[in-house]
Amino acid sequence: MLNIVLFGPPGAGKGTQSENLIRKYGLVHLSTGDIFRANIKGQTELGILAKSFMDKGELVPDHVTISMLEQEVHKHSNPEGFIFDGFPRTSAQANALDAFLAKKHTTVHAMLALEVSEEELRERLLNRAKTSGRADDANVEVIQKRIDVYNRETAPVASYYKNQNKYHRIDGLGDITVISERLFDAVNTAVTQS
Ligand code: ADP
Repeated sequence: MLNIVLFGPPGAGKGTQSENLIRKYGLVHLSTGDIFRANIKGQTELGILAKSFMDKGELVPDHVTISMLEQEVHKHSNPEGFIFDGFPRTSAQANALDAFLAKKHTTVHAMLALEVSEEELRERLLNRAKTSGRADDANVEVIQKRIDVYNRETAPVASYYKNQNKYHRIDGLGDITVISERLFDAVNTAVTQS
């Protein structure tokens, strides 16, 4: 199996790049944001709860997110591997991910961290708001809150993978296809190392 954590601040291009990684490596895409949004659309209990945090730019509580993701992982009996997009976003989530991958006798092989300046992030998110219909993209205060939460709670998760020599920093500026090539190179390096 090949398990990749795609990491980066809101607007870094995780969703776009996930599509290219899936196509290339045949992985199962698990985006916590997408799963929450599907639940909001379906007006499930989980969706109603998640919405109350997402609309404010806050993280959905760990216990909710972790159990939701674990269920998703176990839905796939024999996958080529997973790409985790938007997860883990806290240290508790990183620990939980290791624990439930261990139950499947596997591990995270690489964290690919997309780096983009805050100024560029703000611009991209406001632009995305024009087509995404996402309330959290349309409001500058919510955008700033998401960036602040990222810096405070999520950025430290990188150290968790740095300590395991699984961290790969990727320049997230430039052509989408050029960035994909950078990601593919990092995946190939990780695969030969593991
Ligand atoms: P972005 O990376 O652009 O913020 P996402 O779709 O990944 O977009 O996430 C949207 C929102 O969903 C987040 O601001 C947060 O409220 C919630 N969310 C997504 N993933 C997680 C997670 N792993 N833990 C807690 N909340 C999450």
